[in-house]
Amino acid sequence: MNQVKYIFVTGGVTSSLGKGIIAASLAKLLQARGYRTTIQKFDPYINVDPGTLNPYEHGECYVTDDGAETDLDLGHYERFLNFPTSQANNVTTGRVYLSVIEKERRGEFLGKTVQVVPHITNEIKERMQLLGNTGNYDIVITEIGGTVGDIESLPYIESVRQLVWELGEGNGIVVHLTLVPYLAAAGELKTKPTQHSVKTLMESGIKADILVCRTEHEISDELRNKLALFCNVKREAVIQSIDASTIYEVPNLMLEEGLDVVALKKLDLPKKAAPDLKNWNVFLHRLKNPKHVVNIGLIGKYVELQDSYKSILEAFIHAGAANETKVNVVSVHSEYIDASNVAEKFKELDGILVAPGFGERGIEGKIEAVRYARENNIPFLGICLGMQMAVIEYARNVLGYKDANSTEMNSGTSHPVIDLMEEQKSITDKGGTMRLGAWKCDIKENTLAYKIYNNTSILERHRHRYEFNGDYLAELEKAGLKASGVNPETGLVEIVEIEKHPFFIGVQYHPEYKSTVANPHPLFVNFVAATVKAKQK
Ligand code: GLN
Repeated sequence: MNQVKYIFVTGGVTSSLGKGIIAASLAKLLQARGYRTTIQKFDPYINVDPGTLNPYEHGECYVTDDGAETDLDLGHYERFLNFPTSQANNVTTGRVYLSVIEKERRGEFLGKTVQVVPHITNEIKERMQLLGNTGNYDIVITEIGGTVGDIESLPYIESVRQLVWELGEGNGIVVHLTLVPYLAAAGELKTKPTQHSVKTLMESGIKADILVCRTEHEISDELRNKLALFCNVKREAVIQSIDASTIYEVPNLMLEEGLDVVALKKLDLPKKAAPDLKNWNVFLHRLKNPKHVVNIGLIGKYVELQDSYKSILEAFIHAGAANETKVNVVSVHSEYIDASNVAEKFKELDGILVAPGFGERGIEGKIEAVRYARENNIPFLGICLGMQMAVIEYARNVLGYKDANSTEMNSGTSHPVIDLMEEQKSITDKGGTMRLGAWKCDIKENTLAYKIYNNTSILERHRHRYEFNGDYLAELEKAGLKASGVNPETGLVEIVEIEKHPFFIGVQYHPEYKSTVANPHPLFVNFVAATVKAKQK
């Protein structure tokens, strides 16, 4: 087996510099040169996974095929690389400690004092090499969450230091991402924060091999020389990462800057062929030259934070490009929607998406949004909770069950059209206990779902506890809300749709997680197409 090469990506100066995008862009270029590349993310927080986190904390929780609840950066990895990630691609401090403590309880440390160094760092190093050891990859990129100098990052930085040393010259390198801020008052870009950040890294025994400098303005040659000299890196290893109009531009920008070539050189690997970005650039061209514009309402309750619905927003970008359409996603806070203002709030919308979510807040506004879309023939897509709201709306306003609800919101409802699954009823732990990951769904022919997927069997990713209550299926179907997709093993309803509507579909799963640049999700592609058509009418 060839030596697997490791690239570690650390961040300095501030958070939110876009480490995930830089890591994904580098991976994309290496992949496009013919290297089998994967990315993993190590997060310093103590939650075992982000599944228990409110979206306001770190944005959406991304779900993989194998049912891991992970950091949203894994979504970027999949969207860029078009390759599924797994539980192994995301590790948190909580998971590391949990596993070390379980080993301690089993007596595996043979009476030793269990310590951060070496036990925690060993566990981290082991996990850093897990994907590399599968033999499936030539290069493994590891993104370290947080910012160097943070107390909670220390064990990771120390693990990187040890591992780079153990792997030996040319087998492990460190890419450090920093900020070169522009001071308007001085009219200058400033390198000092970067110098300090590199110094902090150095104090932990790590010398950055490559510096990626985030900046709003072009970094001059003079400044690049200065950064190289004072940060102790080669001149060619000072990479500018200037603000881009879209994240999907970043691989091209990194190619121009030669990030992939310097990385390969430092890893003693041949450049191979120039990266083949033909399809990627076709996508970019379509994205930047739209022929149509539509407004799609995103009805949710976490709309203040863009990252809460990250994968949905990205799926619209992919689907928009596929339709040569600019999709303006209009965030509408569901808490403030009611029957008196819905027409006014939605008057510019060509389509309505009711978002996933948990808990009671903003529910009535979502139901109102569904009613408006249904009655006015506006293209509608309901995702997870959005699908459940569509079922509740139908039961209330078509079947006349005024208090129909999900038992998540009202446990005493006389019409629990959405209810907890039997196997969920005894579960008390919140972490990792939902219906998670990829599940099969059989699609009935002659339905909208079939038209969209052109397939009778699909796999989609789930993250929920509550389900369509089968007791109401016959009644709802008779009234016009059809179950067009059903889980083959359990019979659980996964897709509902209304025949007598131009485009009305609700899905219990999350299609957004599977949309990539190379494979825009058919549900989003068809939904956007329906909005274009609706607008033209
Ligand atoms: N709260 C709902 C459930 O648990 C929906 C979850 C979601 O939208 N992801 O079933």
